[in-house]
Amino acid sequence: MKSMVSWILFLKELTADVAKTCEFTGNWCDERFDFQATFLQCLAKHVPNIYSAEMDPLLEKQEEMVQAAILYPLECYLFGEDPDTFLEKLQQSGSSQLCGKVFKGGETTYSCRDCAVDPTCVLCIDCFQNSIHKNHRYKMHSSTGGGFCDCGDTEAWKAGPLCTKHEPGASSSPKENSECQLNEEIMEHSRRVFPSVIRYIVDMLIWEEDKELPLELTMREKVDSYYCVLFNDEHHSYDHVIYSLQRALGCELGEAQLHTTAIDKEGRRAVKAGQYASCQEAKEEIKRHSENVSQRPLHVEVLHADVMAHQRFALRLGSWLNKLMSYSSDFRQIFCQICLKEEAGSEKPCFISKLMLWDAKLHKGARKVLHELIFSSFFMEMEYKKLFAVEFVKYYKALQKEYINDDHDRVLSVTALSVQMFTVPTLARHLIEEQNVITTITETLLEVLPEYLDKNDKFNFQGYSQDKLNRVYAVIYDLRYVLVSKPPVWTDRLRERFLEGFVSFLRILTCMQGMEEIKRQIGQHIEVDPDWEAAIAIQMQLKNILLMFQEWCACDEELLLKSYRECHKAVMRCSTNGRSRERTVFHLCGHTLESRPYRVSADPVSIHLPLSRTLAGLHVRLSKTGAISRLHEFVSPEEFQVELLVEYPLRCLVLVAQVAAEMWRRNGLSLISQVFYYQDVKCREEMYDKDIIMLQIGASLMDPNQFLLLILQRYELADAFKKIKPTKDQDLIKQYNVLIEEMLQILIYVVGERYVPGISNVTKEDVIMREIIHLLCIEPMAHSAITKSLPENENNETGLENVIDKVATFKKPGVSGHGVYELKDECLKEFNMFFYHYTKTQHSKAEHTQKKRRKQENRDEALPPPPPPDFSPAFSNVVRILNCDVMMHILRTLLQRAVELETHLWTEAMIQMVLHLLSLGLLEEKQQLQKSPEEEVTFDFYHKATRMGSSAMNAVNVLMLLEKLKRVPQLEAQKDTVIWILQMFDMVKRLREKSSLTTVGATSGSEAAKGDESTQDKEKAERKRKAEAARLHRQKIMAQMSALQRNFIETHKLLYENTLETQGKEDDIMEEESMSSANDYSRIALGPKRGPSVAEKEVLTCILCQEEQEVKLESAAMVLSACVQKSTALTQNRSRILELSGDTLDPLFMHPDLPCGTHTGSCGHVMHAACWQKYFEAIQLNFRQRLHVEQTFDLENGEYLCPLCKSLCNTVIPIVPLQAQKINSEDAEAVAQILSLARWLEIVTVRISGYSARNTKGEKQNLPAFTNKGTGNSALEFHSILSFGVQSSAKYSSSIKEMLILFATTIYRVGLKVAPNEADSRIPMMTWGTCAFTIQCIENLLEVESKPLFGSLQNRQHSGLKALVQFAAAQRTTSPQVLIQKHLVRLLGVLLPDFKGEDTPSLLEVDMFHVLVGAVLSFPSLYWEDAVDLQPSSVSSAYNHLYLFHLTTLAHIMQIVISSAAGRCVFVEEAQSAQSFCREVCQYTSGCFSQDIPGWFVWDCVKKGIMPYLRCAALFFHYLLGVSPPEELLQVSEEGQFKALCSYLSLPTNLFLLFHEYQDTVNPLLQRWCADPVVLSCLKGKSIAIRYPRKRNHLIELPEDYSCLLNQASQFRCPRSSDDEQKHPVLCLFCGAMLCSQNTCCQELVNGEELGACTSHALQCGAGVCMFLKIRECKVVLIEGKTRGCLYPAPYLDEYGETDPGLKRGNPLHLCRERYRKLHLLWQQHCIIEEIARSQETHQIFFGFNWQLL
Ligand SMILES: [Zn+2]
Ligand SMILES: [Zn+2]
Ligand SMILES: [Zn+2]
Ligand SMILES: [Zn+2]
Ligand SMILES: [Zn+2]
Ligand SMILES: [Zn+2]
Ligand SMILES: [Zn+2]
Repeated sequence: MKSMVSWILFLKELTADVAKTCEFTGNWCDERFDFQATFLQCLAKHVPNIYSAEMDPLLEKQEEMVQAAILYPLECYLFGEDPDTFLEKLQQSGSSQLCGKVFKGGETTYSCRDCAVDPTCVLCIDCFQNSIHKNHRYKMHSSTGGGFCDCGDTEAWKAGPLCTKHEPGASSSPKENSECQLNEEIMEHSRRVFPSVIRYIVDMLIWEEDKELPLELTMREKVDSYYCVLFNDEHHSYDHVIYSLQRALGCELGEAQLHTTAIDKEGRRAVKAGQYASCQEAKEEIKRHSENVSQRPLHVEVLHADVMAHQRFALRLGSWLNKLMSYSSDFRQIFCQICLKEEAGSEKPCFISKLMLWDAKLHKGARKVLHELIFSSFFMEMEYKKLFAVEFVKYYKALQKEYINDDHDRVLSVTALSVQMFTVPTLARHLIEEQNVITTITETLLEVLPEYLDKNDKFNFQGYSQDKLNRVYAVIYDLRYVLVSKPPVWTDRLRERFLEGFVSFLRILTCMQGMEEIKRQIGQHIEVDPDWEAAIAIQMQLKNILLMFQEWCACDEELLLKSYRECHKAVMRCSTNGRSRERTVFHLCGHTLESRPYRVSADPVSIHLPLSRTLAGLHVRLSKTGAISRLHEFVSPEEFQVELLVEYPLRCLVLVAQVAAEMWRRNGLSLISQVFYYQDVKCREEMYDKDIIMLQIGASLMDPNQFLLLILQRYELADAFKKIKPTKDQDLIKQYNVLIEEMLQILIYVVGERYVPGISNVTKEDVIMREIIHLLCIEPMAHSAITKSLPENENNETGLENVIDKVATFKKPGVSGHGVYELKDECLKEFNMFFYHYTKTQHSKAEHTQKKRRKQENRDEALPPPPPPDFSPAFSNVVRILNCDVMMHILRTLLQRAVELETHLWTEAMIQMVLHLLSLGLLEEKQQLQKSPEEEVTFDFYHKATRMGSSAMNAVNVLMLLEKLKRVPQLEAQKDTVIWILQMFDMVKRLREKSSLTTVGATSGSEAAKGDESTQDKEKAERKRKAEAARLHRQKIMAQMSALQRNFIETHKLLYENTLETQGKEDDIMEEESMSSANDYSRIALGPKRGPSVAEKEVLTCILCQEEQEVKLESAAMVLSACVQKSTALTQNRSRILELSGDTLDPLFMHPDLPCGTHTGSCGHVMHAACWQKYFEAIQLNFRQRLHVEQTFDLENGEYLCPLCKSLCNTVIPIVPLQAQKINSEDAEAVAQILSLARWLEIVTVRISGYSARNTKGEKQNLPAFTNKGTGNSALEFHSILSFGVQSSAKYSSSIKEMLILFATTIYRVGLKVAPNEADSRIPMMTWGTCAFTIQCIENLLEVESKPLFGSLQNRQHSGLKALVQFAAAQRTTSPQVLIQKHLVRLLGVLLPDFKGEDTPSLLEVDMFHVLVGAVLSFPSLYWEDAVDLQPSSVSSAYNHLYLFHLTTLAHIMQIVISSAAGRCVFVEEAQSAQSFCREVCQYTSGCFSQDIPGWFVWDCVKKGIMPYLRCAALFFHYLLGVSPPEELLQVSEEGQFKALCSYLSLPTNLFLLFHEYQDTVNPLLQRWCADPVVLSCLKGKSIAIRYPRKRNHLIELPEDYSCLLNQASQFRCPRSSDDEQKHPVLCLFCGAMLCSQNTCCQELVNGEELGACTSHALQCGAGVCMFLKIRECKVVLIEGKTRGCLYPAPYLDEYGETDPGLKRGNPLHLCRERYRKLHLLWQQHCIIEEIARSQETHQIFFGFNWQLL
């Protein structure tokens, strides 16, 4: 809306100008005139002028001129009336039902898992918030840019396609359509205007001449004015471009940066203007400087100024059209018609296709305009979208090839639009039928991939370019889009086209079948690991496409059979390998196998077999649909050749086995990775799983003995089962054993794995349930962990949610960690130890877990397989391999070896598998027997297993072997399983007999079973007893072991914690004792009734040397590790600007806003000062010696990690023992007679004036006011103060003194951010300040956590505070007393107007608690004498403390009263009316009702307002004096607390009695306090005083629903830049400010350093320490200073109790209050720095990120 007025004025001027010179408006209306020519003439005239200053354009002015000279007249002509009025009318009449919002990178998109047709269907945030999906299972994601809101697209949504905003009729006017339509005249004009406009745009965008313009546009004399234009690409880095520009043009860094930023944004930029020659020169220079060995030069062109101008205007026209499109459907339709119009008889593409084809040559800015134009026109009209799609597919190959050679990201390519068309189901079907799009895409792939084909026409991606291949993936993705929704209806044409596409697709698979063959490396290790990622990546890309093809094929029986035939043919064509070799014969157990020799260990092998696997997939579907019965019509049995089909997948499985047996060690890591992915969830469905299926196909169609012989041969185990050749080669034996295990495992899978629809009669749900059950059998898992372990379908769904509740229960998370699912008990019986998707580790973990569980339940440990579902008819023959001769031979041989204890020839795992196979056989027979009469069951496992073997080797039958096996000691763990199998044998036997023996057998059978059970029970009990004894023994040993193993520091930590504990207990005991013996001990801290300090002998243990030492004044210092930091945790006013450097700051007075204080915290760990110094020096040395080792802390600033707990510290607090004091109450009472407040004040005044007189020595006196008074009273003289009792000052050991100075200097240095200076006069002030501030923080924290004032502090807080207060009292002795006195006088100035100096703040400008602490700690300096070092005696101190405290309390009550009164009339309307009412009543009662402000109100304000102050004071005096507090303060009780505080602090509970008591002394003070101008101005409401109690700071309120935050972020605009680029909005959790992070626009220069928005905000908001929420990433960031920070989980959880950093999973997120509270405490406890240090220590990410620029 930039100043309408000036624009109109300007317009008038210009239109006048135009009217004079121009052909415009008038003529244009003429029917006969030539619009095209006039239009171009006009452009030719104006455009070069308007866009003349390309180097330094005044964008606003350009825009105004364009509007006035061209667009306004153009619109006038087009609409026939004033454009603004017209467009407003159009706007109101409602626009499209499609939203069509185009996403920018980073914007949040929403999809609905319940209603979206596929996951590419998304909504913008506005539509989402107004849609029904808000309450569905939605997903949030960050857009990569270029997408488009699907609101209104009925094909994209199963339900709720429209949001309330786009719903017809919901928009403003209901009478839409009639008005919405444009009238014929405007349509007519549009048909005339649009072609010219479009033609101009197209011509200019694809204009290739650098120097010339089209003839129609060449108007004026051609001038020699050129630009050197630099283009954007994705190869050169930002810095590289800047460097090249600086070098080539000799320009400043700033200018080069400006150019580079513009180039990155717009895609191109003129970097030099001038004559042709000079521009050409610049071009060559830039090219030269940007080129190096690895990179090509930057793209630079020299363009004529006029060409540049017209191109720029063409883009402007583009966005003009874009805007116009949004107004009316008619405009869109006319536009589309013109764009699609082909010139009659011409082969040339239409306008839009021309632009598409030119897309890859356009610069970034132009592409954006073009794509937006397509979005706003074609994609908003379904009918034209279809026509556009047809054009798109027509040129698909060309476009993709352009894209593959392009140097821009995919989002910037027109090919990225494919998703918008291909995923629309009707459109996809139309494109398949009419444009044969599947074939087009596959052919494109075949055409772009040949560069990767080797001599055998197989792909080989060695040395591929990742970038290029990524671009190829885009084509593969298109295939996925086209296939994503299965057609509900099939036409003949569709069938035909699909099959054609499928066949074409098979050609790609043919190139993959057997690609990248490998050969086992013998002798030498391979030199370079081959690239394997590309091939695996393609497999991953193809996985779902392969599945979708199979699904499509299965839609239609005819189609399925035909595609099967095609696929089978293709497999056969690829299976010629090895046919040249002679067949060999293999005999075993009387069976023979004739086959061609092949050895995986010697011949080449490939794991890429997509053709075989597709065939397996189709085969399963044949079985499922029943079409398998017609298979022979399509593939004749002779052609079928099942051995050949099985061959390749079998080789692949053997390869896996051999890798496991370490036979391929020399082939390096690449093979290991491939094998990993082969079985991993990302690939297994179309690799490993299908290979197992192919073996099952083989097993179902081949003779079982033949099949097993083939397996034995391929596993190269033929000899291993023939007879034992004695060999001593241990490695070889081990190898054999592993191979046997692997083979047995595969046999188990072939027979047992039936959870595939088609192999048995299971549903997809059953399959997923089984997967989940087996995952949860390992351990309880988080939702995300389960999701990651399940395969995703084409819609990125795992189907988890539909079934999870049937098999598992959800357990909620605590304050940390995440929620987990636990398996339901009834599902445990489904557990199959040999589940084929278990990795080796998962397998053993699950076995362990399940055995443990059974043990806990006191059950046997047998884990037999669960009964598998029946095979479907086509696969029913598979079970025959269980009871065939060769299988029996294998089983028997292995059992025999175990029984005969040929230890090296068998393993426990092997026997486990044998037992599993036996179980499977018995289960199968049992199931068959239960289903059909005995005589029909041909499966005779029992019979075969109990039969004697024929040869000598097989002389014993399986049953007998099992009996023997029970007694093999190495197989103790399998005993339960063996027993289970023996029972099964029995049961099957009985089932066999049952049918013949009828009922009698059954009863006896059950009895027998019972008898069995009872003996078994006994046996079990005995074994249990033994096991229990063994367990106890083990436990004992383990405990001993672990005690030994625990490392040094941990042992000591333990020790340390123990001592602490006992210390605490001792304290308790002592306290109890003192309480019982002297219950009447006074619990008053101040005045004559002061109670005794609790004498406490402190013996501490140094965490470094482990020696104990008692803390004494005269011994060497002990210190507490501590961290000093600036803090804004209590601030009442965040808008206040903080001084960043304290060079000139006067920190004596704290403002009542508490804007920034110095906090001292400690982890509570004690060291000898000397030990600590040694430790610190050692770190320094260490650091210096190993410079490359980066430290997570700043040694320069004294930082180190606490040696015990590793928290970050930057100093130590010396531990100064409390000087126990006890006063004689009789003496004290006596003193009370004389020493009234008035007298005390006089004595103090005299003392101070005396000093002052002495110090100034005759110079002009500073403090005239009280010298007069002093001389007035002769009874008082300079030394009077000493007469109430003195004692000599405490003597500190030199080591304590040294530490006092060191710590005080740290507080000064950190608190003021200045260089250390031991002599600075502000050191004492800082000491008192940190003491007061830290107490206030702790008081605040206790209140927030609703804990009692005493007794609830954490150990570390308690010892830290104690040390800090004692230190603050002792620090005085290390400074000159004159200095301390000076500070004291200034402090007293606030309370006693007599001492008021020029810089003394008024009553309302100081925090009273700070004054109290300062005054109390500095007061002893008044006792200082030249000759002797004196300090007040206990009695004197008691009075000093009492009066100082009473004075500050009186002043604080005044503060409260004034601010509440001031606040009352300013803020509360009700109070104001109450007041006026009172005044009236007062009048009527002739003044009897006299008070303006009701007393109860004032009392209420005071009582509430003074609490924090009293609590702080109580803490302070307690830690200063050691007087035990009253019991009530150890509990939380509002009323009791106030009374107890008053009693402890010697205050009357009616605080106003203080004023009465001291009336004479206080009244003059009151008078003068109130007369202060600041106070008066506040009372008049002219200024605002802080109100008491101060507000307690909290982290800002966060919304419950995370998408609200995302919504806010989407509305966020960077305050510094106006472009629409996506920003990283970051929320300050202290103050709620939204910042633009990680962006150059918002960097700030602080002390000559560039700081990011967050870092510079943190300096102000949190004095360097701050907490932010990165909204788009859903992560909390903690930062400290410029160099440190860490990430922290955001307090938002999804319904599965998990956080979602990066919004990767995209589930709806909700605020977790407990976690947010944890963050709040982290802040208020000043533990952010500690958290950062800890996280950096553990994650070692310190140097991964430049926190400064955050
Ligand atoms: Zn939308
Ligand atoms: Zn909408
Ligand atoms: Zn929905
Ligand atoms: Zn020590
Ligand atoms: Zn520590
Ligand atoms: Zn902030
Ligand atoms: Zn910004």
